[in-house]
Amino acid sequence: MIVLLLSKGIGMRCNSIQPELVNDHKNDKGKVLKNSESCRWPIKAVQALFDMPFNDLIFQAQQVHRQHHEANTVQLSTLISVKTGGCPEDCGYCPQAARYHTGVENQAMLSVDSVVTAAAAAKEQGATRFCMGAAWRGPKQRDIESVTEMISAVKALGMETCATLGMLKPGQAKQLGEAGLDYYNHNLDTSPDYYDAIISTREYQDRLDTLQEVRDAGINVCCGGIVGMGETRETRAGLVAQLANLNPYPESVPINHLVQVEGTPLYGTAKLDPLEFVRTIAVARITMPKAAVRLSAGRREMSEAVQALCFLAGANSIFYGDKLLTTGNPEVQQDQALLNKLGMRSLTA
Ligand code: SF4
Repeated sequence: MIVLLLSKGIGMRCNSIQPELVNDHKNDKGKVLKNSESCRWPIKAVQALFDMPFNDLIFQAQQVHRQHHEANTVQLSTLISVKTGGCPEDCGYCPQAARYHTGVENQAMLSVDSVVTAAAAAKEQGATRFCMGAAWRGPKQRDIESVTEMISAVKALGMETCATLGMLKPGQAKQLGEAGLDYYNHNLDTSPDYYDAIISTREYQDRLDTLQEVRDAGINVCCGGIVGMGETRETRAGLVAQLANLNPYPESVPINHLVQVEGTPLYGTAKLDPLEFVRTIAVARITMPKAAVRLSAGRREMSEAVQALCFLAGANSIFYGDKLLTTGNPEVQQDQALLNKLGMRSLTA
């Protein structure tokens, strides 16, 4: 680990922690990686970021943010559930798992027309990316056929497209890509060592395999995790290290705060300190400088002040619209008022 006491870049002094630079080496596929491509974030280095004085951490994160992104801008995405509930998996946070009694009503696959109508309305309200989510372990071939129709139709509106459909089998990512899919979301959820406490019906490696399918199909990767699930800071550092060490790291990194839904195993988990959530955003920004760091689930439960700190820490993308897959999200007008108050503007397509 290399710990520098002077920051690089814009010449200001602050305590700064940098990744380990690895000499040129070959990856698993025999491709020679240059130094710049092979930075590695040991968990201890990520944890050292988490442990920094809050102001130093946020200062470093905002510096990194401004080196790679336009300041004071945010990308708006809208998420729609195209198939809700009845999922056979057992993710401990999820109200859509069939085995938990959460009151979520199952909904069969939406029609292409209704998805396109929702996408057009989202565009009208300023969203540039439209994400389609389905509660499956993974899509069947006939599901892929329906979803590819939706993707092509949404793409034709001039929006970026994103889908989150569960685990992908070989060849499925390619079909989604050919239909015009820009991003595929598949989260790692947590660090490998805490994973078994949250999910038992799929392995961590299954997730990594799906991410590789997505990469191989030339689709951008959207991959993040959830905090506030009773994990330790070390676990949060483990999650961020895992994400940052993907080669390349994801283009889009959603950081979710657990929304506790009655009936799920994680309901009643001790609440995470909001400033720890802000730290997680900052550490994601520093370790994945070019990624869109997405302030995702749990925003409705956050005060405006906490959301403002998240933007200061480098979040530059939010879900927009009054509903996420099944849980609430701040109203559009409320979000616009907050962005105005902060002097921030949304990115246009
Ligand atoms: S998170 Fe996805 S895979 Fe897990 S139970 Fe919910 S819908 Fe199913």
